[in-house]
Amino acid sequence: MKNSAEVVIVGGGISGCATAYYLAKLGCTDVVVLEKEYIASGATGRCGAGVRAQWGLELNCQLTKMSCEMFEELDEELDYDGDTEFKQGGYLMLATKEKEVEQFKKNVELQNKLGIKSELLTPTEALRIVPFLNTDSVLACSFHQKDGHLNPFYVTDAYMKAAKRLGVEFYTHTAVKDIKVDKGKIEGVVTEKGEIVTNKVLNAAGGWAKEIGKLAGIELPLTPERREILVTEPVGALLAPMIISTSLNFYCQQVPHGSFIMGRGNPYEKEGLNQASSWEFLTNMSKTITQVLPVLSRIRVVRQFAGMYILSPDAAPIYGNVPTVEGLYLAVGFSGHGFMVGPMTGLLMAQHILGKETEISIDSLDLGRFDRGELIREPSVV
Ligand SMILES: Cc1cc2nc3c(=O)[nH]c(=O)nc-3n(C[C@H](O)[C@H](O)[C@H](O)COP(=O)(O)OP(=O)(O)OC[C@H]3O[C@@H](n4cnc5c(N)ncnc54)[C@H](O)[C@@H]3O)c2cc1C
Repeated sequence: MKNSAEVVIVGGGISGCATAYYLAKLGCTDVVVLEKEYIASGATGRCGAGVRAQWGLELNCQLTKMSCEMFEELDEELDYDGDTEFKQGGYLMLATKEKEVEQFKKNVELQNKLGIKSELLTPTEALRIVPFLNTDSVLACSFHQKDGHLNPFYVTDAYMKAAKRLGVEFYTHTAVKDIKVDKGKIEGVVTEKGEIVTNKVLNAAGGWAKEIGKLAGIELPLTPERREILVTEPVGALLAPMIISTSLNFYCQQVPHGSFIMGRGNPYEKEGLNQASSWEFLTNMSKTITQVLPVLSRIRVVRQFAGMYILSPDAAPIYGNVPTVEGLYLAVGFSGHGFMVGPMTGLLMAQHILGKETEISIDSLDLGRFDRGELIREPSVV
């Protein structure tokens, strides 16, 4: 293992791997990525990997639209020997309450202004996209054809391989145990396999980011919370878009090899580092999905798994440096949408760490916004 590096990244999910790649691409190749398990073992490898540009805030529209364009070019950009499986079947968002319909109207207007060609659909129009959708409770939908989903393992693998080719070193099964800080400055990282001297550390530890903050002596306003997923047996192609509804509390997609993957939130979920599966989720998820997509009642469930959201107080990411610890950087707090902004997270963090002007301003996403009371109020967060 190397004993020094210009930048040490904690976490081998999409945030850490993408940042490693863009750092190296920008000329900083003396970079180490430390991962306590295997690459994409955290939320990245357990997520829906849905990508949508349909948001209600300009900043989120910008971040996701730009990431979406980067995903479109990813295989070429990273010279990937596989296929990251970007299936752009669109995102169909269902509104079942008047308040949601009003919000969708505002969102679509904003999105169109920003060049995102989303549209408002009636339930009947939605049936042209998903003929077997139960629209009984649906009042309106919004749809954007360029949204979709990818294979999160291949995406992370592609970033890792490209970063490796440029000289970045990845150490898996290497947990960070301590972060050395002296007089308010980062001095090094202690792992279970040895120490690395460095002045720059990026905390990209997903659900464990609060713990990594503690190692550097800071208390981050983050809450880990379990989210579960259910997977069916593979069947022939039925569903092109990802379907999602906040009020009906579900999302569902069919991945290229035929399985349906779906999830929902549990309003009673307790905070904590928990990745166990539950019967309760299996039961509730099955009930919800067979009401909205009754045809799925004929498909068998093959497995379920869980991962962790890491929630910030406003469910928006925290990007940037930590004013009280020189050399400590954060790419944390992504809630349920850290995968879809992964390419931009990598690019922005790499530019910021290297002291370059960032592609778009990340000032409003800094850690200090919570003390200033300047929270990001996204109306369409799931
Ligand atoms: C069920 C579920 C569904 C989701 N669906 C979507 C979706 O459809 N679209 C979307 O955009 N987002 C979705 N998300 C959110 C998304 O998965 C995350 O925001 C994103 O993957 C975060 O990536 P990351 O690299 O920041 O963190 P992670 O992927 O969690 O990576 C952090 C890594 O840090 C490692 N680590 C932790 N502690 C240490 C340590 N001490 N030493 C070394 N390594 C350490 C972990 O092992 C982990 O691999 C979903 C999340 C879940 C749980």
